[in-house]
Amino acid sequence: MTQRPGTRPGNHERVVELLRTRGPLTRADIARLLDVSRATVSNVVGALYQDGLIVENGSPGPGGPPKQGRPGTLLTLNPAAGAVVGIDFGHTHIRVIVADLAHTVLAEQLRPLDRDHDARDALRIAATLARDALAAAGVKQSMVLGVGAGLPGPVNTLTGTVGSSSIAPSWVGLRPAEELGALLGLPVIVDNVGNLGALAEVTWGAGQGAQVAVYVKLGTGIGAGFVLGGRLFRGSCGTAAEFGHMTVDPAGRICRCGNRGCLETYVSLPALLDQLRARHGTELTAVDLIRHALAGDRACVRVLTDAGHRLGTAIAVLGNLVNPDRVIIGGELAAAYELLLPPLRSALLRDALPFAGAQVTVCKGQLGDRAVALGSVVTVLHATARLADRARAVAAAAR
Ligand SMILES: [Zn+2]
Repeated sequence: MTQRPGTRPGNHERVVELLRTRGPLTRADIARLLDVSRATVSNVVGALYQDGLIVENGSPGPGGPPKQGRPGTLLTLNPAAGAVVGIDFGHTHIRVIVADLAHTVLAEQLRPLDRDHDARDALRIAATLARDALAAAGVKQSMVLGVGAGLPGPVNTLTGTVGSSSIAPSWVGLRPAEELGALLGLPVIVDNVGNLGALAEVTWGAGQGAQVAVYVKLGTGIGAGFVLGGRLFRGSCGTAAEFGHMTVDPAGRICRCGNRGCLETYVSLPALLDQLRARHGTELTAVDLIRHALAGDRACVRVLTDAGHRLGTAIAVLGNLVNPDRVIIGGELAAAYELLLPPLRSALLRDALPFAGAQVTVCKGQLGDRAVALGSVVTVLHATARLADRARAVAAAAR
């Protein structure tokens, strides 16, 4: 790497890390986020540009950058310098996304999955989809920095194993990062879908600019993720933000986790559909529920209103504990956001400390059903230290 007078290696690495984790930024953004002078940023950016590590507006310029750069010009890492694969293992689907280091999605694959699938079959399908997506994107395996993968269950970050969850039973006790890594010949980072959805929304969606963001994923299960100061908070072994298993009624129904009266037994999609059996039978789907509710069906409106109240009370507890400035509602039930928000907000303001309740903005996620796969990309982009050896190998392959 070219070293210029007046620039320090630490600043080069900080600028590269910032562009890798945040995506396109102006020189002014970089100066503000790193708390350094514009002159320092210009020197560092000039050196990185000459080394081919960064580009302006996504395309390498001939010769060199303008002396100071236009104030609003966006800088990114060189898209040719590597790529990342993100995988979302849903209950009934696998989604794969390939993105470059400039945060551009290059290819995407989606395949349905049986709810009672075998975990190792799912890993093999994901490996095939990842290879297909890399081929479609024109990315060689030697240029892949790493693979991120999201599972709808707790992943122990100390052992790499999947804990008990609503995912198919064959996942429990498996070490998916090791198994998928062996299939693909690439480093794999596995995390919970709530954590990854949070990372994606903070990086590319409704959580941008938040200081303390809480992402709540409402679907077959209830997940969450906390991003504090731009960094995911996983707790001591990866099970932080298991929001769905917060006890809301010690005398309530038995939950799949073995506890009684968890939030998930009241507001998950299966719980809501179960409450509507007497009126709508057993064939009702999530899409039906939301469509009926929007058309004014009393039972569907009532079930979503009650769910909104439950969620608001539970989010008020989070509000008091971690004092977020943004709560992002994602997952399949976010399609009912307009119906959930009024009761949710009312209960949140009633139950949270006034400061905490007034501080928080509740909003709908912007990334929809791509959030987890995109978050799987982001988690690799954040894993600078863990993937340092691989990053050096990819950089060598790029030359
Ligand atoms: Zn539970």
